[in-house]
Amino acid sequence: MFEKFKDWYENRHEYAKKWKERTGGKVLGYFCTYVPEEILYAANILPVRILGSHEPQDVSEPHIFAMFCPFCRDCLAQGLKGKYDYLDGIMIAQSCLHIRQTYTSWDLHIPVDFKYYLPHPMHVQSPHAIPYLTEELKEFKKAVEKWTDIPITDEDLKRGIEAMNSNRRLLQEVYELRKKSNPPLTGLEAMLMVVSAQITDKQDHNKALEKLLQDLPSRNLDDSGERLMILGSEDDDTKFLGMVEGLGARFVIDDHCTGTRYFDKEVKINGDLLAAISERYVKRIPCPSKDWPQRTRLDYIVQLAKDYDVQGAILIQQKFCDPHELDIPIIKQALEDNGISTLFLEFDVTVPIGQFKTRVEAFLEILREEDLF
Ligand code: SF4
Repeated sequence: MFEKFKDWYENRHEYAKKWKERTGGKVLGYFCTYVPEEILYAANILPVRILGSHEPQDVSEPHIFAMFCPFCRDCLAQGLKGKYDYLDGIMIAQSCLHIRQTYTSWDLHIPVDFKYYLPHPMHVQSPHAIPYLTEELKEFKKAVEKWTDIPITDEDLKRGIEAMNSNRRLLQEVYELRKKSNPPLTGLEAMLMVVSAQITDKQDHNKALEKLLQDLPSRNLDDSGERLMILGSEDDDTKFLGMVEGLGARFVIDDHCTGTRYFDKEVKINGDLLAAISERYVKRIPCPSKDWPQRTRLDYIVQLAKDYDVQGAILIQQKFCDPHELDIPIIKQALEDNGISTLFLEFDVTVPIGQFKTRVEAFLEILREEDLF
């Protein structure tokens, strides 16, 4: 059922190259899920999120600090090695400084036709955030129109919004099934599904999700063990999820930009379309780099854990990831105050699976003992 998503995840570059051949369209690589894909879909451009490969590399060192997060360095390495040589453009929406450095180094060293830095507000709780971003989106739209030499009409924007909203709705429908006492999908399958949404055409992805939703509700997997949540920095480490679920536990929910944070909240069309897009990106569940002065993520994450009946949470942090490093201690405490045990692990480009396996086994043992009382 999930083979298609796995294939897209594993063969992302081949997919994008074939898409270009098939459509004659442009492909734009983006950093960070604050990029307004609606506008790119409106212009018939394929947005693909630039991700790492989880393989050791030695090419990024001259261009980015070694104490910037391994995800950012891995992404840049993919560009420097030519893995994304089919991209026509790149862009970033401002989030954390580490990924900004990846964008800047890419801009300097890897030639592409179109480059765009979108100054997305950091203070999303400010009353000025939505109007500010709306003005920035106007500028971005103009830049895309200039690049493609084709105007973007309101009809185009509505089509872009609908493609994104449908995808969000369908992903949420699948996630709802994870609330069941024996969810019909694993955490690894959920991850492949959401990450592949970030690297494929929404038309293809939405069709695959519609097909999936016909079959998935009646699927019966072996009874799931401990219900786990995974949260923290960027994470598409399929090996780690596979290892944990191989020990008999089941991830039932996440708070990752490669998971729920990507598809949280739809664009509500009401009047000005760019203002509606702006509102969605300002009001979506924030990355911790934007979650201040109020920490809105605390209550949200605790509620998410309750909604999905979570017994334990694994908090992961990409080494040196500042936003999550500041976020994790208080979230860990909030989860534990609500009776949810936690395990913290620090990720690098490759993770020490053997060492982590021992720690996860011990954690699951604790959860099983807690369950006896
Ligand atoms: S938020 Fe953390 S994981 Fe994500 S790009 Fe920034 S430093 Fe890396």
